[in-house]
This record gives sequence, C-alpha cells and structure tokens, in this order.
Amino acid sequence: MSAVQPAPAPSADNPLLAPSPLPLQLPPFAAITLEHCREALLAGMAEQRAEVAAIVGSAERPDLANTVVALERSGRLYRRAGAVFHNLASSVSSPRLREIERELAPLEAAHSDALRLDPALFARLDAVHAGRHEAGLDPESLRLVERYHLDFVLSGARLDEAGRARLGELNQELSALSTTFGQQLQLATEAAAVVVTDRAQLDGLGDAEVGAAARAAADRGVEGFLLPLLLPTGQPVLAKLRDRALRRRVFEASVGRASAGEHDNGPVAVRIARLRAERARLLGFPTHADLVLADSTARTTEAVDAMLATMVAPARANADAEAAALAEVAARDGVPDLAPWDWAYYSERVRAERYAVDTAALRPWFELDRVLVDGVFRAAELLYGYRFTHRPDLAGYHPDVRVWEVSDAQGETVGLYLGDFYAREGKRGGAWMSSFVTQSRLLDTRPVVVNNLNVSRAADGRPTLLTLDEVNTLFHEFGHTLHGLSSAVTYPRFAGTSVPRDFVEFPSQVNEMWALWPEVLAGYARHVETGEPLPASVVEAIEAAQLWGEGFATLEYLAATLLDQAWHRITPETEIGDPADFERAALEAAGAAHDLVPPRYRTTYFQHVFAGGYAAGYYSYIWSEVLDADTVEWFKENGGLRRENGDAFRERLLSVGGSVDPLAAFRAVRGRDADPTPLLRRRGLLPAA
Ligand SMILES: [Zn+2]
Repeated sequence: MSAVQPAPAPSADNPLLAPSPLPLQLPPFAAITLEHCREALLAGMAEQRAEVAAIVGSAERPDLANTVVALERSGRLYRRAGAVFHNLASSVSSPRLREIERELAPLEAAHSDALRLDPALFARLDAVHAGRHEAGLDPESLRLVERYHLDFVLSGARLDEAGRARLGELNQELSALSTTFGQQLQLATEAAAVVVTDRAQLDGLGDAEVGAAARAAADRGVEGFLLPLLLPTGQPVLAKLRDRALRRRVFEASVGRASAGEHDNGPVAVRIARLRAERARLLGFPTHADLVLADSTARTTEAVDAMLATMVAPARANADAEAAALAEVAARDGVPDLAPWDWAYYSERVRAERYAVDTAALRPWFELDRVLVDGVFRAAELLYGYRFTHRPDLAGYHPDVRVWEVSDAQGETVGLYLGDFYAREGKRGGAWMSSFVTQSRLLDTRPVVVNNLNVSRAADGRPTLLTLDEVNTLFHEFGHTLHGLSSAVTYPRFAGTSVPRDFVEFPSQVNEMWALWPEVLAGYARHVETGEPLPASVVEAIEAAQLWGEGFATLEYLAATLLDQAWHRITPETEIGDPADFERAALEAAGAAHDLVPPRYRTTYFQHVFAGGYAAGYYSYIWSEVLDADTVEWFKENGGLRRENGDAFRERLLSVGGSVDPLAAFRAVRGRDADPTPLLRRRGLLPAA
C-alpha cells in the first residue's frame, strides 16, 4: 500500500463518481456505461489506496476513529462502482463486460491483498485491538475492531516477510490447482457422457429427453444418442431408464469421473488438501478445517462433529428402510439384488405408487405476479408490516427489472426492492439476492437490493407460471431480501447478509415456511383461468411426498460433508496413498459408508470444495437448516403468522446482521441454543411428535 499510484483521470461526466441523486442512491442505470464502470473501479481503487496511505501516515495514536472507522469509510467510490459492475456481470453480461472482468479481476485481487498484507496498517489495527477493552467502545464498535483484526489475521497479516512470501506461493499454487481441478472435471465429465446407439435402450425417457439426447450426440458428432452427466453422483435419467444395463453404465460413468487416465483429479485433490494444510499451519491453525471454522458460527471441529453425529445413524436407518421398500418393488420386476444404479428408478416407482402428486400439473396455480404480490409480499406485510409500492418511474438495469419502494408500518421508507425474474442470455444460472446499496448509519444509507431468478418467460404476453420449486425459490431468495431490508446497523461491514457462511442461509430457509402456510397459500395459489384455490388434498399430498427419500438424501449429503471434513483435517505430514482408499476409510470411520448410497460428490468431482468456496464448509447447508427448522418450530409454538412474531424475529435477528454473535441473536429469538430435533423430525429421521 505504500506505493501510491496516481489515479487515472476519470471523465467528469461519469455518473458513478458522485453518490446517485436518485431515491436511496439507486444507481442511475440509464446513464451508466461499462466504460464508466471500468474507469470508476480503477479510480476507486486508487482513491482507496490514497485513503489507506493517509490512515497509515497519520501521526496520531491509532484508535477506533482514525484507524478502524476510517477504513470502514474508505473505498466508497470503489464500493459504489463495484456493486453496479458485479451485479451487471451476473445479470446482464456481454463480451465487453467479460473482457473488463478479465482485465480487472487480478487488479482487484491484488488491491485486496495489498490492503490486508500492509504491515504498517496491520500494526495500527493490532494496537487498537490490543487496547480494545480499555477504550470504552460500544458493543458494535468492539465487534468491528475484532472483525477487522480477524479478517487481517486470516489473510496472513501477522506473518513476517518470509511467511508472507511462502503464503503468496501457496495461494498462487492453490489457485492454479483449483483451476486445474475444475477444468479437468469439465473435460472428464464431457468425456464420460454415455453414448447409446440403440433407441430402444432409452425406454422410459420422454420424447423431449430423447430429442435432447439425439441433439447432444449430433453436436458432439457421434452416432446415436448422448446422455451427458450432471455434477452430483445422482443423474436424473437414472430415475427413468428402464434398461438396467444402461442404468449401470450411467452410474459407473458418474462415480468414476476424473478418477483415472488423462484427467485424473485424485492427485490434484491430494495436493490441494496438503497445501491447504500447510497454509493453515503457517497461519497458526492445526488444520484447514480449524482455519475455516474460526470464521463461522460453528467455531470448532468438535461442534461440527457433534451436529453430524446426531444425524448419521438415523439417516442410515432411514436409508435402510427405504432400501427395503425399493427391494420389494424391484423383486416384482425380477431384480433380486438392488444395486446403487437401481435406487432412483425404484424410488420414483414407490413415490408414484404411494403419493399421487403430479407436480407439473400444479403450475396453473402459481402465476408469477400473484405469487409475488399476494404470496411473498403479503407474508412480509403480515409478519413485518412491510408494504410494497411499485415504482414504474424508477428504472432498473434491464427492461425486465421492476422496482418497488418498501415502507414500514409507520409509512417510513425502508429501502428499494428490484425484481429480475426471467432467464435470458447474459444472466448466470440459479437464483440469488444481492445489493446495490447496503444499509449503514455511518454512511447514512438505506438498502437497495435485488432478487434474480431464472424463470422462463411465457410466450407473447401470456402469464408466467411457476413450478412448485420456483415458488419455494422465490420465498427463499426473498428471505435474503428481508435480511438486507431489515438491517439496522452502524457499520456497513455488518449490514444485512454480512454474516458467516454457515448462518447466511438460515433466514432465507426460514422464509420458505410461508410458501405452503395455509393463510398465505390461500391468498396466492389461485388457478390462473378459473380462480379456483389449490385443493387442500393436493397440498397434503405434496407435504407427504416431501418425506419420501429423505433417508437417502440426508445420508448422501452427510457422506459428502464428512468427506470434505476428512480432507481438510489432515496435516502436511499425513500419509495419503490412493485417494479412493482415503475416501473409503473416512466414510467408514464416520459410519457413513453404505453400499447403496454413495456420497453426493466423490473426491474427484467434489467441485464445491476443490474448485469452489466450500472447503471445510460443505456442512453449512445442514448447519443453517438446524437453525431454520428450530425457528420454524418457534414460529409455530407462538401462533405462526403474526406481527408479534415477525417483529421479534426482525428486531432480534434480521436487523442486527453481523453486528452481534449470530448464535447470540438466534438465542435471543429462541431463548436457548439450537436443538437439532426439529430438523430430524422434518427429514423423517424421528418419529413424528
Ligand atoms: Zn440462499
């Protein structure tokens, strides 16, 4: 950070250079070009470098205001431009945008490293941290000091020069190995796609699927049909294919991916795990899992193990019971020995026999705008008093985007909500919430948040109909939105969803509970043509069907989680021979090895942890689901959909963001620590209460 480079001279007409004059600083999208973004990001980095140089160069004794709060105030231009650019990159990408991304990504990484590894800056932070208990700080400021200190320590700020050099080498090699893992996985997955020459073997697939397989083969230039593989172990076609030999081929191709030959990821995974172990030791932690958990709500490997241990045995028992039901149906087909490639196929048969729910036939009851306004918004009004006013006068970054002003029960403006629901070219897959502006008292800002979905638009002006999954997704993503909108913190570092990874999915999962809540459902689930409500018998059948298969689903997830933990609890000295043996031993030691239920991801295609951001963190999904299920119980015990409940949840948990210990916020709502029992019950792993 010491070499302050001159700022590139930004053009005076760049609208990002000043705070937006629009309501709540909604970016003036119509006036912003990609070149404005690029220029403002570069100018923003230079500005922040100058701001940090001023903090470091101060002759005053380091204190909260002149060091930590000054850091928190720094980089406003960078943040403003980054929020616009990175949101556009996700929602409306283009060749020029990708070019700018490639140019700026290494500069942004270097900018953040230069800040976190600046010894003079860390010396000031360390001094404030050392005196934090004698400085008379309010609780949020105390937490801010500790938060910054931890961020810097985890990034290596405590290291000497040799340590920083080694850390740089490790980070660089790990980054290259992750890229290799991801690229090899993609190539191996493509190579493992299953070729079928005889149309009769595809018996069980629909015409559309057979057509897609024929096109996939033609694209690849092979004769016949091609069944490409998806990322997890389980392949959707396995639920439909009647030909047992073909099921076996698909299954073996899936679990054998990237485990031998040209694109073998086994040695890559071993090397990644070993280097992560070395980096953890360099940073002062026994293992990589300990390092990751230092910045989580779980905190310790013991806490993760204790949570997983409550689930493995009941999930196994349930999977065994499911296997017995499957074996019965399979025996009728003359299949005496159920194999893993038969599981999905017979599971679908049992589902169809026991629970007659045709989820595809539900779509006419789920019209997008009705679900949004009479379902999602209505639930938020009943719980939190929020009201939503469409603002057609405010423009988004694309004609698909609509803007609503959100006000509270007193009529005060809370924030802006942008909805961008349709799939289109240039938008990445999936669904998410992100922010253009986060709430903070320090900077006097209120939230401007956006939800993105990838719903197919109906043809020419016809209403857009959602699947039940998409309805759930909308409630889920809006749960993140409520977290962002309800934020009431001083420091932007703690706003809304700025909480640990094993906590951030908790409020969004909780909001899913209202999708099938009778009072909410009755308001939005009306047949698009007749206006008829969704019959209660259908709702009951949906809920009953949700329990089938939970034994398998829980066990395959837990197996992957345990595998992730095992790989990240090695030390640099741990002897690892064949990675497949390591995997088997880890699952056996945890009681999660099951002949019929392989892990959701095996080592060589576990992209989340070897080429994504979930190393030692794959447990997060179920960790936050424990909190979620226990909170759903709390709402139910207290009368469900009531303002008193919503207000308590908002004030004690949603509004505090990361400004207090998240588990303390949970306790403030629940009155005690989380109990895993409701989750076990939800997943059918306990007798019903
Ligand atoms: Zn989420």
